[in-house]
Amino acid sequence: MVDYIGMGGIQRLVARVGPAAFIEGLTREIDADYRRWAEFDKSARHAIHSPGGVIELMPTSDARLYSFKYVNGHPKNTNVGLLTVTAFGVLADVHTGYPVLLSEMTVTTALRTAAMSALAARHLARPDSRVMALIGNGAQSEFQALAFAHMLGIQTFQLYDVDPAATDKLARNLTALGLHFTRCASIAQAVRGADIVTTVTADKCNATILTPDMITPGMHLNAVGGDCPGKTELHADILRRPDARVFVEYEPQSRLEGEIQQMPADFPVTELACVLNGSAPGRSSPRDVTIFDSVGFALEDYSALRYLHQLQTAQPTHEQIDLIPVLGDPKNLFAVLHNANVTPPPAALLPSETVSKKSLPA
Ligand code: NAD
Repeated sequence: MVDYIGMGGIQRLVARVGPAAFIEGLTREIDADYRRWAEFDKSARHAIHSPGGVIELMPTSDARLYSFKYVNGHPKNTNVGLLTVTAFGVLADVHTGYPVLLSEMTVTTALRTAAMSALAARHLARPDSRVMALIGNGAQSEFQALAFAHMLGIQTFQLYDVDPAATDKLARNLTALGLHFTRCASIAQAVRGADIVTTVTADKCNATILTPDMITPGMHLNAVGGDCPGKTELHADILRRPDARVFVEYEPQSRLEGEIQQMPADFPVTELACVLNGSAPGRSSPRDVTIFDSVGFALEDYSALRYLHQLQTAQPTHEQIDLIPVLGDPKNLFAVLHNANVTPPPAALLPSETVSKKSLPA
């Protein structure tokens, strides 16, 4: 049997901890895993592109646990009532290769992306940051707002989306959370006076959500929405500013997918893991423009699955599914086809002729 977290499961787990505390707990797990960066098997994710979107597989592993996430990005999906991003993932035991958890990751991706953004901002944003512009008010936006209010002390959100209905929805949800916001008529208005600017838009193109004239010294940019080849949010001149420093998750993947895909291959960037383990500085002056060029890396999903599994198995009971056969004789997989019950019963209950003597309890 494999532990399972579906929509009901994630709702119960997050409700039990509380969404803000959940994000904070997940941030701690991501931080801990990024600090042991060298222990992970890392690769840029595998992406298959189509005209409307992308489907990606994101694996990573240390010596004990392996994880992968299936995730899509289809910005036009919302026009037909579907999510832009959906995902599920698996955590597996490296020693046996057996999956131990199959989990939803649509909600979990939003939680872990917010956690990662907050973790980066804790090291890169000015500590006195109180105002954040939130450009793109879709599915990820509340999670970002909650993380920045709870973990960075952001007091006001300046909202903008090309779709006013998306801002209406975000405004309702922020009101319910007791968070303060103002609605803005343009991106420029939303960014004016902001200490942190989060861009979390979805459009499969080289968009210029932020232009150089909008950026002021000391800002932290949390650029979340540009995460595919040909899908960016920042004007390249922002990256070229002499006072700008760019931070990435896993450099080989970010060179392909991040804002830095617009820059030459030797454009200087710092991996966030180096900041977290103290081998590279984060923000070095209140006037630096820091840019977290977020694309989403497999290690964040590894941490999220590990965290989910930890929370789930601490409960007295939890859901499981019969994804993997349970056999008395592991060489007799064929026995599954002869058993009327689709779920193979424990070895002791299998018909005696299908159970090897060796596997029976003495
Ligand atoms: P969504 O479709 O629910 O919301 C995107 C919003 O952006 C929509 O409301 C849309 O109207 C708005 N938008 C599009 N173009 C805009 C523009 N020019 N100006 C202002 N608003 C604009 O999508 P989502 O699930 O919220 O995801 C947002 C983006 O974040 C996607 O591009 C997704 O791929 C990306 N993402 C990144 C990570 C990461 O780890 N970096 C993780 C999850 C999602």
